[in-house]
Amino acid sequence: MAHRSRYSDAELALETLKLELERHLRKVPCPVHGEHSRRVTVYGSSVYDMRFKVDGCCDELADAMLESIGQANSIV
Ligand SMILES: [Zn+2]
Repeated sequence: MAHRSRYSDAELALETLKLELERHLRKVPCPVHGEHSRRVTVYGSSVYDMRFKVDGCCDELADAMLESIGQANSIV
């Protein structure tokens, strides 16, 4: 079975999910300051191990993002 892309289907799905998450998280405003994150980076080796790094105004923003995706991953 030959792959034309350098990603397998699973990897491609993971990369797509990361991009979707990043796009989603960038739209979450800080409940305190009303600002959006300047930079969001989602990473992880599987859909069950997704983490994200946020460059934002404060921890409240990160908390709001966590709530918005409904999971309890810790912020690194
Ligand atoms: Zn804030």
